[in-house]
Amino acid sequence: MQRYFLTEPYETKEQYIVTGEIYHHIVRVMRMEPKQQVFLAFSDRLAIIAEITEITEDAVYLKELSKELAEKELPINVTIACGYPKGDKFEWVVQKGTELGSHKFIGFPAKSSVVKWDRKKLAKKTERLKKIAIEAAEQSHRQFAPDIVLLEKEQALIDVFSNYDKVLIAYEESAKVGERSHFATALSELTAGESILIIFGPEGGFAPDEIAVFQEHNGIICGLGPRILRAETAPLYVLSAISYQFELV
Ligand code: SAM
Repeated sequence: MQRYFLTEPYETKEQYIVTGEIYHHIVRVMRMEPKQQVFLAFSDRLAIIAEITEITEDAVYLKELSKELAEKELPINVTIACGYPKGDKFEWVVQKGTELGSHKFIGFPAKSSVVKWDRKKLAKKTERLKKIAIEAAEQSHRQFAPDIVLLEKEQALIDVFSNYDKVLIAYEESAKVGERSHFATALSELTAGESILIIFGPEGGFAPDEIAVFQEHNGIICGLGPRILRAETAPLYVLSAISYQFELV
């Protein structure tokens, strides 16, 4: 069943009215008719099953049938932060990472990031990534679409460390010296409702002085096994491992 994300929080109503892009998708793309059902997912992560009651020139009217009860979200809040990689790799991370349950994506200019985006380009890119996240969240039946934040400075990432219960830095040099326990230990110490920020480098990896600053702010460096993964593969490995740890037991 098709799923649509609304920007407002849930409120009990006699009828729900959707317009704009969602109207276009229901009526023109899906060619739905009255009596057909969709999921409406609200900004506060509550979703309902709703039936179309009427379609007019510019609005679809729906009534609530029931609440969606199944829990689709990872029990811990995971934010994936990536040093800007080349090309469309960040788009790829956002799409696949949304399917795997990330709550938020942050992009930042790491020292070895090749791409340099100005404020205008970042705003345009943010809009595109938000759209990708919404489509992936609809496709994977998530209860909300992850937030996207693209930073102009690496310092702005360090400034949010204190908002998280744990901050991990996936560091290729840790992997090379056989560090294998920090990631697993951090996960075992987290309980439902807590939050973790995990930071990944771009193609060139992290510079030692960058790592030193992360560590000064209580970031924990960790290895992700003996193989060096591409910048776009490492976040997906981490999200899969988190799902295994918290959802398949
Ligand atoms: N240029 C680096 C090198 O040759 O060692 C590799 C960088 S890797 C392509 C990009 C990012 O993925 C790294 O900065 C790190 O965040 C993450 N990464 C990849 N493999 C990893 C591993 N085995 N352990 C920890 N982090 C890893």
